[in-house]
Amino acid sequence: MLVGFPYARRWRQNSAVGEDLEKLKQRLPLLDYLRQQNWTARPAGHASEFVGLCPLHPETRPSFYVNAHKNLFYCHGCGQGGDLIRFVELSQHLSFRQSLTYLEQQNAPADRDALLRQASAFYQRQLDRYPEARRYLEQRGLRDFALIRELQIGYAPGGSLRRHLVAQGYSLDLLRRTGLVNPQGYDALYQRVVFPCYRDGRIVNLYGRSTGTAFAHRFLPGSQGGLVACPV
Ligand SMILES: [Zn+2]
Repeated sequence: MLVGFPYARRWRQNSAVGEDLEKLKQRLPLLDYLRQQNWTARPAGHASEFVGLCPLHPETRPSFYVNAHKNLFYCHGCGQGGDLIRFVELSQHLSFRQSLTYLEQQNAPADRDALLRQASAFYQRQLDRYPEARRYLEQRGLRDFALIRELQIGYAPGGSLRRHLVAQGYSLDLLRRTGLVNPQGYDALYQRVVFPCYRDGRIVNLYGRSTGTAFAHRFLPGSQGGLVACPV
């Protein structure tokens, strides 16, 4: 029912882009995207295959098939077929590059900035709950509560950020991509006093200083920006 498509070769030629594309398509399966666009379908008889009216051409009898397993579509009415990006190209009348940008925006309502702000706020709240963290700061001369607040210093106890952010609706995949959660699914910062790193008024990274025996310095992947303070 579904065949290979020449456009697929385009991005295979560039493996770096291809890798990103694969991740994008895994994050936002074609069927999910279509349903977000109010496409209604019924099972087509084969496992993981669905059929509904074609969103790309007017029709009264469903001829638009989606194979959820292969993450591909094909319309027997207009002959169009392909993956999510191809569908966006056709339905939104966008170029390949524009479709990628469009999907990244669609798929990133919770961007890295917002996530880092949430994580930083969460860590700041933990500081009061863990006396060992306050003790650590006091031992290094930071006793002024107002200053600690001003510097937005927090504490990562470990084993709690992921749960908190997932409960807020952030996907585990986004947490992994931001580096807040490691590939194994655990909080990346564990028993660390946390300082936000700012650039141009935005939190661009978090720095974690170990309060225990772990490796002293830890940044999340990505830009480290400028530390507002690193007194320890
Ligand atoms: Zn069609």
